[in-house]
Amino acid sequence: MLVCQGKGVCDGIAIGKIKLLKKNTENIKRVHIDDIEKELIKFNNARENSKKQLLSLCVEAETDIGKENAAIFEIHSMMIDDADYIESIENIIKTQKINAEYAVAQTGDNFSEIFSSIDDEYMKSRSIDVKDISERIIRNLMDENTEESKLSEKSIIIADDLAPSETIRLDKDKVLSFVTVKGSANSHTAILARTLNIPSVVGCDIEMSSDIDGKTAIVDGFSGKIYIEPDDETIENMKRKMAESDIRKDYLSTLKGKENITLDGKKIKLYANIGNIIDLASVFANDGDGIGLFRSEFIYLERNDFPTEEEQFRIYKKAAETMGEKKIIIRTLDIGSDKKASYFNLRKEENSAMGYRAIRICLNEPDIFKSQLRAIYRASVYGNISIMYPMITSVEEVKKIKLIVSDVKKELETEGVKIGNVEQGIMIETPAAAIISDELAKEVDFFSIGTNDLTQYTLAVDRQNEKLDEFYNPHHKAVLRMIKTVTDNAHKNNIWVGICGELGADISLTEFFLGIGIDEISVVPSSILTLRQKIRETDTRNTDVEKWL
Ligand code: PEP
Ligand code: MG
Repeated sequence: MLVCQGKGVCDGIAIGKIKLLKKNTENIKRVHIDDIEKELIKFNNARENSKKQLLSLCVEAETDIGKENAAIFEIHSMMIDDADYIESIENIIKTQKINAEYAVAQTGDNFSEIFSSIDDEYMKSRSIDVKDISERIIRNLMDENTEESKLSEKSIIIADDLAPSETIRLDKDKVLSFVTVKGSANSHTAILARTLNIPSVVGCDIEMSSDIDGKTAIVDGFSGKIYIEPDDETIENMKRKMAESDIRKDYLSTLKGKENITLDGKKIKLYANIGNIIDLASVFANDGDGIGLFRSEFIYLERNDFPTEEEQFRIYKKAAETMGEKKIIIRTLDIGSDKKASYFNLRKEENSAMGYRAIRICLNEPDIFKSQLRAIYRASVYGNISIMYPMITSVEEVKKIKLIVSDVKKELETEGVKIGNVEQGIMIETPAAAIISDELAKEVDFFSIGTNDLTQYTLAVDRQNEKLDEFYNPHHKAVLRMIKTVTDNAHKNNIWVGICGELGADISLTEFFLGIGIDEISVVPSSILTLRQKIRETDTRNTDVEKWL
């Protein structure tokens, strides 16, 4: 038995077979080769395999995501046959006598750079495509898994790292657990695992060697331990732990239908954070009072091209109808930083968390923003929808947003489309927004405090960097004081304030949040009942909030 240790980011125990996801397409080594002919054959075989995969992907994708969206795979399969592309790779192999992987990577980089420098949107988007096809060929050359999202059986996924866009494309019904070597507890991949309630471990000291592929393992999301080929005693211990966890779940389910009320009668709303409509089932299973954060960018991350207004409308309509009278707060597109979709053609940035992202993209590219706003407003008559905007730093941004919203509403009115009464809120997740929350409160209907980013920006600690996890301290007085200031400013201006960052689920702070008068807390669905239990056991009559500040 081999025992590895990481950080548990979602509680629970998973037992099953390991599926190793390797994607070593970066850092390709340049290796001298003697047998040029053999290398050329190797390249052409990998190219043919890649082509076959793309064509079958195209057929499968047509059923899943429609003909229009599936067309990208057809374009890729044509690009893979491009004479200039092939010639360049073969020339590098022949003249430099180097390995095919390196030749493909170099050609991919060169072509991608050429495409992106052409002043034409169509050509620019081919720059990403040529990188994609090159990576596919390299994976085939390295005989690695090419269809990460295709899992033949229920598996424990072990990967070096997983971007949110990769995680979201995995077939969740077949994922027993996520384990990554890299990755921080505050990353969106960890949040996604918690939202899906899949036992997960990040920052794990596991060796990514092919030997472990297919072996039986146990992932203990509580302790962050992975047992590979566990012995009988460990299996027994883990089964006992699973049974204990089931008993706890049974107890928590007795809290369904009960109020979120403290011993001294203070009430608070408990909402859920979701990434897509499939998460709605767990909101009901855990008795959420509403949706406090619908991370709409996940809709974009699942696709290979922009979702149309109609596609977005259908998703929001379904969410609104399913939730009925219960509130659903849709956060507009928070793309960028770690959440990247290739078709946005976002440039690599040195400091992407502080880069071109979220509302900055929406204000700069109003067509993208408007299509989302139109979809949300059209869906708003089918339920109780509110909108909130991410990464706000100034009153001017809010004013610009309001102008765009007013244009969208006018457009819809002219078209005779009925819309509902939609509350407008903003996320308070930058220190700038927290500090000027007195002014911002006059512009909006509610605040939702995004403690994940607020902590990252206040403490200057990259939430994605696993090396900094020990410095990422959302209990820091600077963060808690800001939360108190924002709450006071909201209430002085008669608007409500919630928390939708992960800190909302931290029961060691529930008394503080209740004490300062937070009106709503939104957490991953699986944390709702634990939080309800904590609220019902709390008495705020003697709470001295100063002790946290
Ligand atoms: C936050 O920053 O706290 C938040 C809720 O948004 P996200 O985690 O999606 O950045
Ligand atoms: Mg955020």
